[in-house]
Amino acid sequence: MKNERSLVYFLIFSCFLLMSCSQKMESTSFTAMNTYMTVKTYGKNAKSAAAANQLVKQEVERLEKIFSTTIEDSEVYRINNSVPDNNGFSTISVMPETTYLIEKSLELYKLTNGAFNPALYPVIKEWGFTTGDYKIPSKEKISQLLEFSDFSKIEISEKLMSAPPLDSILKADHDKALSSTASIITKPIGMQLDFGAIGKGFAGDRAIAVLREAGAKSGLLDFGGNIQVLGTKPDGSDWTVGIKNPWGGQPVAAVKLRDACMITSGGYERFFIGEDEKKYIHIFDSKTGRPVENDLESVTIICREGIYGDALSTSLFVMGLDKAIDFWQQRGRDFDFVIITKDRGLVYSASLENSISLLFDFDSVRLFE
Ligand code: ADP
Ligand code: MG
Repeated sequence: MKNERSLVYFLIFSCFLLMSCSQKMESTSFTAMNTYMTVKTYGKNAKSAAAANQLVKQEVERLEKIFSTTIEDSEVYRINNSVPDNNGFSTISVMPETTYLIEKSLELYKLTNGAFNPALYPVIKEWGFTTGDYKIPSKEKISQLLEFSDFSKIEISEKLMSAPPLDSILKADHDKALSSTASIITKPIGMQLDFGAIGKGFAGDRAIAVLREAGAKSGLLDFGGNIQVLGTKPDGSDWTVGIKNPWGGQPVAAVKLRDACMITSGGYERFFIGEDEKKYIHIFDSKTGRPVENDLESVTIICREGIYGDALSTSLFVMGLDKAIDFWQQRGRDFDFVIITKDRGLVYSASLENSISLLFDFDSVRLFE
């Protein structure tokens, strides 16, 4: 009897091993949203995995054509260049995807007390971050452009219920059903949008949903600083993902993930050095209209939804260490964080304790419960 049971266990285990070994991994890389992106998918065979990767690429490219600030027929470009009426408002009809991003962004704008603000585009552009033609604008110019940055003034004035809802793919992936439809928005004169701090996270959520829909159970997306994983590795173990060393070299930590995202914002990759020899980074403080200057090198967020992780990594970076930790506590610790400070310190949420391994000799390490 005992031997029979052992045999059954052995057979089950062997089947499991065979199944996991028979999964084939295909990797596809491409550039979209100004980012070098890689998708790794395990499938029943190489062909199905490669086909799933192509679907992801198509979806990300489709989203880029909607959200890009620079592609001239993108929806965001159309919003940003719309002509206002006599009352100073423009009225624009937008797709479900844009409606959803605006709705989510309005929530996050309130939640983060304006740290996350997609209406900073006129200011960010003035500093040269879209063209690479960097300059330090005058105080007057900055205050003038900040007048247009009150994102709460955008309104979804009408939902076009007859339009088809955003495809059900994403619904299957998220607890919160995505019920957005096309809509009509109104925005005040001068307001211009930039979803640079949230778009890649949204694209990642869509990509994971596309992989799922294609039947994949296991995959990893690397969209620049944004990592999103589907399920576990085929053998049932967690993915192990590194957090970049802001000073260069090997990753400073490795984190175990399953069905999650790990998204980093930092000032060490996109910045310019001004004539005053100071470093100006691409993450902006919406109160001052200036690049953030604080004691942080990077903020990494670990959570379920890419859109949330992406927005929060940028927002917590803007908030700075103390406010970031307050925010995390106020949110009921509904995400994890890893913060690297300029004085070679590491600060992270204690619930990561069993999933993080440190690979760098930090001068200080602090955990928050
Ligand atoms: P990356 O895109 O490099 O991964 P982030 O996710 O942190 O970095 O997003 C930074 C981008 O978001 C900037 O390039 C800019 O377009 C935009 N941005 C900058 N500051 C803010 C802010 N406070 N709120 C919302 N978006 C911002
Ligand atoms: Mg972000």
